[in-house]
Amino acid sequence: MECHVCFREVSGDITVSSLMLPGEMEIIRLAGTPDRDWISCDSCGTVVCLSCCRHPETGFCDGCSEKYNLLAADEEPSTAGDNQSDD
Ligand SMILES: [Zn+2]
Ligand SMILES: [Zn+2]
Repeated sequence: MECHVCFREVSGDITVSSLMLPGEMEIIRLAGTPDRDWISCDSCGTVVCLSCCRHPETGFCDGCSEKYNLLAADEEPSTAGDNQSDD
């Protein structure tokens, strides 16, 4: 497998383990091996290495994190525009 951006061969892997809970509830756990240096984008499935992804902790590639505005989550509350005069 290789990075979609720089075409470098990536190392490590993701292991999938499923856990069946009582009540027909199944939990799928994804865990990366310690040497993993890439992510598979949660949205488009693209494999990118960590050096080609600015925010690998989001689980999205750069394109998708921009597309969904994941990085603009902390909006500043606007206090301007409240023009009440107290007489
Ligand atoms: Zn790369
Ligand atoms: Zn993506």
